[in-house]
Amino acid sequence: MAMQEITTTDTALKAIIIGGGIGGLTCARACLDAGIEVELYEKRDLDSMLSGPGGIFIQRNAMRIYEQLWEGRILQHLYERGGKILKGGFFSDKGTLLYLNSPEFVKAEDLGVCLLRPELQHILYNALPEGTVRTNAAFADFCQTPDGIQVLFADGREAWGDVLIGADGLYSKVRSRLEGKEQSEPPIYSGMCCWRGWFYKKDLPLDERYTWAELWGCGNRFGYFDVGGGRFAFYGFSNTAAGGNDEAVGGAKKALQALFSSYADPIPAIIETLDEQSIYRDDIFDREPKGMQWGRGRVTLIGDAAHPVQPNLGQGGCMAIEDCFELVKYLIVGQETGEDISARLRQFEQSRSQRVEKVFTVSRQVGKLGQTDSPIGCFLRNWIYRLTPTWLGDLQFKWLFDYDAKSPVYRIRNYA
Ligand SMILES: Cc1cc2nc3c(=O)[nH]c(=O)nc-3n(C[C@H](O)[C@H](O)[C@H](O)COP(=O)(O)OP(=O)(O)OC[C@H]3O[C@@H](n4cnc5c(N)ncnc54)[C@H](O)[C@@H]3O)c2cc1C
Repeated sequence: MAMQEITTTDTALKAIIIGGGIGGLTCARACLDAGIEVELYEKRDLDSMLSGPGGIFIQRNAMRIYEQLWEGRILQHLYERGGKILKGGFFSDKGTLLYLNSPEFVKAEDLGVCLLRPELQHILYNALPEGTVRTNAAFADFCQTPDGIQVLFADGREAWGDVLIGADGLYSKVRSRLEGKEQSEPPIYSGMCCWRGWFYKKDLPLDERYTWAELWGCGNRFGYFDVGGGRFAFYGFSNTAAGGNDEAVGGAKKALQALFSSYADPIPAIIETLDEQSIYRDDIFDREPKGMQWGRGRVTLIGDAAHPVQPNLGQGGCMAIEDCFELVKYLIVGQETGEDISARLRQFEQSRSQRVEKVFTVSRQVGKLGQTDSPIGCFLRNWIYRLTPTWLGDLQFKWLFDYDAKSPVYRIRNYA
């Protein structure tokens, strides 16, 4: 797509965004930067919209977008609150290094930033003018007319716009209404659940050389990462049937102790410090890719609403961030060339489909490796990883970071 100068007066569009997660909030900022009017509707109240379990990696590909949005102010806040992603790696459960990753492989000083989820939500929310986000508004349906789109909410409210962007996550109602259903199809269970939370580093014996580490056992793994301010987030995955809970073993902390007490230091020590109330447990799901078309007419989807993936690459949210930037790019460039909105949205979806499909596939592959549960399979996995040269290991991930966020959007800032 050719770069061109566009002025904000050319773009008199109005976008209705459903969902105040990473995708919806970032999309709202990207729209405003491009001179697109925005209303964002979120079904939860503000406090719960700004909450969330554990931490999140915002990796270099997504950081390139935040560099450009809102004069780089989001990026600056991410660095102020979060912890830089520097050296880290995969280890066996006994602590043997299997693969070491460092920012040099993408010729950058860091690979991005990790943050606690509520802090990320606050930063993104605070990047929007007051009144942009309307909470306690559950999307119910939409109705397209030749001139625009009418959006209906469960409490009887209505909104009008030129485009409807469904950023309402894994169980997207916008997606289900696009498919003519009341509720979305059940997502696909990955075979594993995940415990998440965070802890203060204090005197814990964490290896100072690494800002993140993931230890692989048989059918389970445990990771932790620096989220800034002397705090680390953690996650533990385990193969298990869907819909389980920790009641039978006496709670989440006991469940983690039972699974990970034989792991090398510092894992047992980390678990020991955890506060039972602050551990969240979720089942992990994804959905088969939708292909080249995600929406219809003036309606499109972004983030988990369009392409939920297993979290093994830490890229689901980063893909939502990339979607926002690309969507806005197609909206404003198409405005210049006189293309109708529906065509612009379909071009956006096509432009994203290959990349998100690859993330989906590789996320599943990495999950399969990480969650291998036969002793011989684990032995072979660890042996292969240990013998693989670092440069070859890096190639598995390099394509993710090579994403180039270039757009005329960044030339037409319109800060409110
Ligand atoms: C264990 C785990 C670890 C992860 N780690 C990472 C990581 O390190 N890096 C990374 O990039 N990604 C990670 N991800 C993935 C990431 O969390 C998701 O991809 C990301 O949150 C998706 O953002 P979203 O905005 O599309 O959807 P969501 O964050 O799910 O937001 C959807 C929003 O829509 C609202 N909503 C839902 N229905 C309605 C309705 N009817 N009306 C109005 N509002 C509605 C919801 O309340 C919610 O606020 C991880 C995921 C998991 C499970």
